[in-house]
Amino acid sequence: MGSNIFITETTIEGEGDGDAPLAGTTVAVKDNISTAGVRTTCGSEMLEEYVPPYDATVVSRLTDAGATIVGKANMDEFGMGSTTETSAFGATDNPAAPGRVPGGSSGGSAAAVAAGEADLALGSDTGGSIRCPAAFCGVVGIKPTYGLVSRYGLVAYGNSLEQIGPFAETVEDAAALLDVIAGPDERDATTREPETNGEQPGYADAATGDVDGLSIGVPTELLEGADEGVLEVFWDALGELEDRGATHHEVSLPSVEHAVEAYYVIAMSEASSNLARFDGVRYGRSGGYDGNWNETFATARQEGFGDEVKRRILLGTYALSAGYHDKYYKKAQDARAWVKQDFDRAFDEVDVLASPTMPVPPFERGESLEDPLQMYLADANTVPVNLADLPAISVPAGETDGLPVGLQLVGAAFDERRLIRAASALA
Ligand code: GLN
Repeated sequence: MGSNIFITETTIEGEGDGDAPLAGTTVAVKDNISTAGVRTTCGSEMLEEYVPPYDATVVSRLTDAGATIVGKANMDEFGMGSTTETSAFGATDNPAAPGRVPGGSSGGSAAAVAAGEADLALGSDTGGSIRCPAAFCGVVGIKPTYGLVSRYGLVAYGNSLEQIGPFAETVEDAAALLDVIAGPDERDATTREPETNGEQPGYADAATGDVDGLSIGVPTELLEGADEGVLEVFWDALGELEDRGATHHEVSLPSVEHAVEAYYVIAMSEASSNLARFDGVRYGRSGGYDGNWNETFATARQEGFGDEVKRRILLGTYALSAGYHDKYYKKAQDARAWVKQDFDRAFDEVDVLASPTMPVPPFERGESLEDPLQMYLADANTVPVNLADLPAISVPAGETDGLPVGLQLVGAAFDERRLIRAASALA
């Protein structure tokens, strides 16, 4: 059984000389990020042969910085999943826990770093898809503040929720990759210049490990229902931060009890709209044509999409439909506003929030496919962050029964430097 990390192996050489910031480094890129001339499948049969005519902004920033791209990494189909098992190109094994899933949806990216197939990797995080595989594979992953990194050339799943972000073995290396990809892009109007609050602008420079005086909030709701072994590792890691001068306080985020429901309504609604473009005419596999366009579209979508993608398009279309819009979509937007408010209130009291990234250790392969609801619930600690547009980092905290456990730190908007400084005390 191969590890199946890449959907497409390739070499896209970096530019510039040995002084470029990422000269001599290799990077794996999730296969929903467009690469000119190299197929970009999104883990879907629909796009099995789709070759983009242009590079995503993050890809041109990578090659301008001297990095060499070594492959397009495996992923859950269109980013929908937490195990990389919904990929049409087969599952990926977890290099840190053989026989287990690498997490998802950016499982190939995290596995590439964990297996040493690439120094660094890019993933995308709509509801945890960078942090979950980082936690499961024992590497570092950063989900940037919404608007810090350009989404131009990222194939959209839930466009109001997602950001591209880095993976690496260490916080400092992940931060160095963030330095290269972050910043405004005229091709993505949601990007903006982050405030530096008078601090040094570099992210990698912030990786000092200094947590003296840092006040860490622990949201009680994000510990509920977590696996005991995971909690033990979490508290040990928190203890390490306290030994270095941090303090911790219990805080409450009552709204997060509703975050999974709100997230899935919003993500599926956006997905149903974003994926409407895949009709077999403009992109992707053809549905043939025998005189009826509706049937042509239906055939392309019937054959090109997998079960999880179809489930979400159906549910998302339902949630947006005239009779149910107010009952589901609008309610979910109200919950989203409430989650934002809760986080704002928490950051009036503490500097950062900490929790286990995932409430459970990596699943055995095949375990979660039977029960989609169970898989959605595993996202409880990651999705609130996307609803609130905030930055977060998952950093290796230790192991339970030989399985990696990640600690998640969440910060106020554009407070990546503080997260990087704190997380670098652990990895
Ligand atoms: N597991 C979540 C989902 O399936 C997160 C996915 C993601 O962040 N792309 O929607």
